[in-house]
Amino acid sequence: MKNLFILLIAGAFLWVPVSVEAQLVKNRVGVDQNKLFLTLDACVDGYDSELLELLEKQRIPAVIFVSGNWLKSNPQLAKQLSENPLFTLGNHGYHHRPLTVDAPVVYGIRGTGSPEEARQEVVKNQQLITRLTGAEPEFFRAGTGYYDDTGVAIVYQQDLIPVNFTVTPDFGGTASETVIVEQLLTARPGDIILLHMHLPATPIASGLRRALPELRQRQFEFGRLLDYLDKLTN
Ligand SMILES: [Zn+2]
Repeated sequence: MKNLFILLIAGAFLWVPVSVEAQLVKNRVGVDQNKLFLTLDACVDGYDSELLELLEKQRIPAVIFVSGNWLKSNPQLAKQLSENPLFTLGNHGYHHRPLTVDAPVVYGIRGTGSPEEARQEVVKNQQLITRLTGAEPEFFRAGTGYYDDTGVAIVYQQDLIPVNFTVTPDFGGTASETVIVEQLLTARPGDIILLHMHLPATPIASGLRRALPELRQRQFEFGRLLDYLDKLTN
């Protein structure tokens, strides 16, 4: 018992606190170069093939955050995307819920209502992605991108990095092509951009296509987020 006590005391002194900074949701990448980082969310069933074909043609890498609902409707497509070296699958939650402990309603979607429900939201989708595609995502984004502090901690406990965004040009699929172009052109070095990939009847692909020449004119290139793990910041 005395030994255990000594061990606990020693442990208390050896304990190095993880900085709060390191445990926050990551919104951007700390780079000086003109790099941008594209992320796509697949929240519910649907598939914008025009957007994916554009990315392939232009060799633009993207992290694709898939929800459990989307995965269950598109297992073959998920497998194909996971095998494409241009794309990285991310975990967008089993039920696409805000990651919370007291079930607030965010953008009309009820958040998880307890730490256990939040944990299941992360873990069940991670398992589903791995079962259907073999991939083991490193990134998590909650449904609606909303987390409370416990939600963020739960993501880190599962060895995942919560990744949000700094630029969201399509406003959940409601924006016009002109607005999408304007918003894309606000991007600055290191920004993480969110577009939705489950909304084929929107001008998201055409907006991105229109903005690309100007972004290239400004010397922007799209980076692969996995290559910048140590540069992720908020
Ligand atoms: Zn979503």
